[in-house]
Amino acid sequence: MKQIVLLLTTMFVLVITQGCYSQNSSAQKKSAMDTSNNKKNPVYSNTDSTKVVMTDEEWKKLLSPEVYHVARQKGTERPFTSPYETSHEIGTYYCAVCGNALFKSDTKFESGCGWPSFYEPISKGSIIYAPDNTYGMQRTEVMCGRCKSHLGHVFEDGPKPTGLRYCINGVVLDFKKAQDAEKAYNAKEKEE
Ligand SMILES: [Zn+2]
Repeated sequence: MKQIVLLLTTMFVLVITQGCYSQNSSAQKKSAMDTSNNKKNPVYSNTDSTKVVMTDEEWKKLLSPEVYHVARQKGTERPFTSPYETSHEIGTYYCAVCGNALFKSDTKFESGCGWPSFYEPISKGSIIYAPDNTYGMQRTEVMCGRCKSHLGHVFEDGPKPTGLRYCINGVVLDFKKAQDAEKAYNAKEKEE
């Protein structure tokens, strides 16, 4: 008899846990629609500007292999593979690793180089720079100002007003559409 009670209790606990689990996973799915790479990532935030310092081992556990390769191993995604490259949607591009705001869609342009391109970061502190002399080239690497993830490079052949071309791997970007109100506001400003 005791065994049956134990069995029933175990089953009951299992049912409860399963219930919680499926609720959690549907919540995760919902947030994954907003931002694709921040599942289970405790440092991801669009508002917290505290610097993020973690070891590669810790990052490896949090990030997808594609994001980890580009962001932490300074990899490069294949050209013409990011849906962001030709996107004209209005909104803000964030660091997919930590959520730091990086670029606004109105500074984005189609450079034809195969990667999402911008002529200006959202703010001075949003990006940090480092000389990169690998592969026999003299380039300037750009990294996220909050988590120091590798984003891409900046070149001096961009359009006005800055003349710069921030060539960024789409896999380390998260895009969030502007609120409808903000869109309406921008449209109104253009008319005037
Ligand atoms: Zn970041």
